[in-house]
Amino acid sequence: MPEAPKKSFKATGHDYCLAEKNKKALQFIEDVTTNADQVQKRVLAEILTRNARVEYLHRHGLGGHTDRDTFKKLMPVITYEDLQPDITRIANGDTSLILCSNPISEFLTSSGTSGGERKLMPTIEEELERRSLLYSLLMPVMSQSVQGLEKGKGMYFLFIKSEAKTPGGLVARPVLTSYYKSSHFRERPYDPYTNYTSPNETILCPDSYQSMYSQMLCGLVQNKEVLRVGAVFASGFIRAIRFLEKHWTLLCRDIRTGTIDPQITDPSVREAVMRVLKPDPKLADFVEGECRKESWQGIITRLWPNTKYVDVIVTGTMSQYIPTLDYYSNGLPLVCTMYASSECYFGVNLNPLCKPSEVSYTLIPTMAYFEFLPVHRNNGTNSISVPKSLNDKEQQDLVDLVDVKLGQEYELVVTTYAGLYRYRVGDVLRVAGFKNKAPQFNFVCRKNVVLSIDSDKTDEVELQAAVKNAVNHLMPFGATLTEYTSYADTTTIPGHYVLYWELSLKGSTPIPPSVFEDCCLTLEESLNSVYRQGRVSDKSIGPLEMKIVESGTFDKLMDYAISLGASINQYKTPRCVKFAPIIELLNSRVVSNYFSPKCPKWIPGHKQWCNKN
Ligand code: AMP
Repeated sequence: MPEAPKKSFKATGHDYCLAEKNKKALQFIEDVTTNADQVQKRVLAEILTRNARVEYLHRHGLGGHTDRDTFKKLMPVITYEDLQPDITRIANGDTSLILCSNPISEFLTSSGTSGGERKLMPTIEEELERRSLLYSLLMPVMSQSVQGLEKGKGMYFLFIKSEAKTPGGLVARPVLTSYYKSSHFRERPYDPYTNYTSPNETILCPDSYQSMYSQMLCGLVQNKEVLRVGAVFASGFIRAIRFLEKHWTLLCRDIRTGTIDPQITDPSVREAVMRVLKPDPKLADFVEGECRKESWQGIITRLWPNTKYVDVIVTGTMSQYIPTLDYYSNGLPLVCTMYASSECYFGVNLNPLCKPSEVSYTLIPTMAYFEFLPVHRNNGTNSISVPKSLNDKEQQDLVDLVDVKLGQEYELVVTTYAGLYRYRVGDVLRVAGFKNKAPQFNFVCRKNVVLSIDSDKTDEVELQAAVKNAVNHLMPFGATLTEYTSYADTTTIPGHYVLYWELSLKGSTPIPPSVFEDCCLTLEESLNSVYRQGRVSDKSIGPLEMKIVESGTFDKLMDYAISLGASINQYKTPRCVKFAPIIELLNSRVVSNYFSPKCPKWIPGHKQWCNKN
């Protein structure tokens, strides 16, 4: 992820001294990780002092105490559902001090959902500073491993998403949309590390086609200057390559003539692109020559020959894209720089050139107060078990940042400046090492998520409910669903969900293909709003596919799992599969397949709100 302007580490005076600025940022990391516990204590005291009068803390009897022990004794460890009534009040316009003494400036809409809708995370103005601070650490860290990055540009594909207004008038939008629209990003002072090929106007264009087209055009035009490429998530970067595959003829024509395709109608985008676009027939020939070749292997290094690395998140579910990225980039380093969320920005990767499988994030102790709930693996199934709600004893099991144990897995719990107290983020992390006193974590997984293509996160319960709705279409035909499982197929671009269904056909009437297509659409309509947004607006997820398998397939699946050591007594059909031999087994028994015939319904904002004009 690209970094922000360095407000906090801006060199003073007129002399711009990059080395000095980098040194300061690295020294900051040294300091806060060395004094991690003291910093955490101070952060908690600060949060509790300034919010001493808020209703939520009073409700739990904290009464102005700011010490860790009282906080831990009195405050419950919560999930979003516990907070929902308070969030709804704020969304409806209640401006009393409910969670935070600073005014809530907006809601950040998380890709995690509750009741099918995005979670709303309250935030305050000053959190932008904290996010900027974390961004400002990334390039100083990176420049320790790769020299000379200040001599060229970054080609990052960055996008904003639609926003809505709550009934009470607060804006609700994803955290990156909020950040790119903020003055921290738009009015960043010149800095060689925030020198991107994409002009701000192209990033801030709400039309995703025009935004992508203009960013790609600017990236191609400046191809020799590009030293690093990226997007936030791996899926987004691959989508950009796919876009190039589809639209290179138009792009080359624009490069040749120095004009912009008329489909790009946004005047500010046209103007910004014209600042970098000059007729360049030689470059157009070169790009055309490369794109025309049958193989696109190494297309990144071919078109942007000075690229040193690909900056995208490939940890967590994004690891499914590593082979595709390796193919397109000819094995350039894949660099995961940071770990963040709508709730809070957490940490940075201090060893950015490490292998994706070894990435660990050092939590920055000034960002929030962090606690860790130990996670246990079930013997036998190796699945992760974390209680849904915690009893008193379990609430006491949470450990502080500096007390986590090497190799142990934990669920992350945060207390933020914006008014979340002991909030379970839902991510499972494993301690991989320490930077001074601060732990470094591998990202293990997001709890319960079974399917994910882009920023969508579908859990088993949502999938089950969607399947239940869809099977209704089969009832008139006397067919019932015996078993099902699912798979996130990322071999297509964009990727798509696949459901494997085994049916028991009792009726004599054959089921027409249109009925299975209706099942696909109903599945999509039943999935959460982040999924549907990905299908409709971002086009980051392809149509859902259903594969009907011959009867007996799921018995074979069980036999196979048992042959690998699963216990017969404990065997449960997995509701999502990832292991290649199992997918092969399923695919070898497919009798027919169907796709969702159209996009599901989706509107910006929560169902019940009116949209912002
Ligand atoms: P959101 O709240 O929509 O911004 O999503 C935040 C979530 O995305 C986190 O809680 C993680 O589950 C996931 N995420 C963010 N950064 C990373 C990363 N570097 N590696 C893996 N997962 C990540």
